[in-house]
Amino acid sequence: MTTNNENYYSYVSDYLFINFLNTINIKKIAVTDFLEEENGIEDWISFMVKQGILTLQQVEQLEKSSIDVKKMKDFRDQWRNYFEESEELQNAIESLAMYTKQTPLYFDHSLKPIPSKGGTEGLLAMLSFEMLQASQSGIFKKLKKCDSSLCYAFFIDTSGKRKWCSMEVCGNREKARRHYAKQLSS
Ligand SMILES: [Zn+2]
Repeated sequence: MTTNNENYYSYVSDYLFINFLNTINIKKIAVTDFLEEENGIEDWISFMVKQGILTLQQVEQLEKSSIDVKKMKDFRDQWRNYFEESEELQNAIESLAMYTKQTPLYFDHSLKPIPSKGGTEGLLAMLSFEMLQASQSGIFKKLKKCDSSLCYAFFIDTSGKRKWCSMEVCGNREKARRHYAKQLSS
């Protein structure tokens, strides 16, 4: 478990699937795919535990099989596209049920979903289950991409007015950039 993993994230959501979508971002000036790094998926899972988003029981189950990084990346990249080009979103939502059907989930005492299989199938089922719930509760409609040209993060805009995933990171950076651009042009 590395400790620098958390510095990658400008914003941490309460939703597992949003944090998963955000495993690719611009780090310094280069696009960085966190899943491609050594132990990338393991580090991300540890980080989710630390943030209280995944429980140890869920992780214990996931660890029963190996996670195919390529498959997880494909799922992530597909969904990043669906959220950016919403005309395909409805069909995509229907396809999520396939994962939860293939790998049924059960619930622990605090009603956290535990996949019946570990590894890739388990993680896809957990993400799909959460995404189906989020789409039904209207969360997908509030999902936005950060306005900063240097950020790839998605976030939930509850007020309908938020532009940046994080005011501290992206908001301030963007304000500084605009201020500087104005100074140059005057
Ligand atoms: Zn951002």
